[in-house]
Amino acid sequence: MRALTVVPLKKDSLAVTDVPDPERGDGDLLVDGLAVGVCGTDKEIVAGQYGWAPPGRERLVIGHESLGRVRQAPDGSGFSPGDLVVGVVRRPDPVPCGACAHEQFDMCRNNRYTERGIKEIDGYASRSWRVEAGYAVKLDPALAGVGVLMEPTSVVAKAWEQVERIGARAWFEPRTVLVTGAGPIGLLAALLGVQRGLDVHVLDRATGGPKPRIVGDLGATYHHGGVGDAVASARPDVVIEATGSGRVVFDAIAATAPYGIVCLTGVSSAHRLTVDAGDLNREIVLENDAIVGSVNANLTHYSAAADALAKADPDWLRRLISRQVPLERFSEAFTHRPDDIKVVITLDETAS
Ligand SMILES: [Zn+2]
Repeated sequence: MRALTVVPLKKDSLAVTDVPDPERGDGDLLVDGLAVGVCGTDKEIVAGQYGWAPPGRERLVIGHESLGRVRQAPDGSGFSPGDLVVGVVRRPDPVPCGACAHEQFDMCRNNRYTERGIKEIDGYASRSWRVEAGYAVKLDPALAGVGVLMEPTSVVAKAWEQVERIGARAWFEPRTVLVTGAGPIGLLAALLGVQRGLDVHVLDRATGGPKPRIVGDLGATYHHGGVGDAVASARPDVVIEATGSGRVVFDAIAATAPYGIVCLTGVSSAHRLTVDAGDLNREIVLENDAIVGSVNANLTHYSAAADALAKADPDWLRRLISRQVPLERFSEAFTHRPDDIKVVITLDETAS
């Protein structure tokens, strides 16, 4: 079987290679791969900066933003041949820690969790794959073209859940949200904000390309420039930060309304900047502000994501997928083009 594999921590080792067909022990459901999305984590793995092969193996099948169609499912599994499915990325650690024991493997405390396509378990970038029925999520058949957005939507569904749980510590009726960054995470965070009836503002560096119109067609307001420009009209009750830029993070914390909640979802690279720590502290204390980091997602977030995508306009979602590259031309998926939002590698033979 053909699969897209990499030698973790070895730059330029990405290749389409033959790997053994998936074995029954890898999961009850046999799934034909349709597509995988490419994100920053995949780019880090391909650049040799991140990733772990399965124990005893040199190569890892990459791909954690999955989409497939069930070929075989046992009776009583809740799945049938033809179902559109997405496989969950993370598996609980073997200890397990308290969080993993409570099915909150997204909150794992000992970092011994495993992740398909990233950490010690093969991913989904293969012609077929297996998955445990308990780690497969069924998608509305209408989402065949955009189901690969499910995993990033689960990340965003968790971020919104964190905001709402923290908000619930006192009276909370948010009206305005600022989303920083109009990549897939930012745009999907904006979608979930609009679905909550909020006044949504999205900030990004791009002045041209597809992003301003995609934001506008959602009913949200697009801003480019700094956080200060974006909040000139209304200070946000909630900020979902999806750039990982240190400057944007600190500006966002300073820009919230009283009782503001900032949810950080982007990962920063090392960058030194000067901030007035006293000023920042005063702002957070005197306004009862809260700042939370959020990563990954558990099964409840996948379920929330499936509902959010089913409610969304499929034509709007399709515009987030800016390019589709067949498996044989995988390297094109890792070259950046200015108008890229979500780049997808197609896996089915007929598509390539
Ligand atoms: Zn754990």
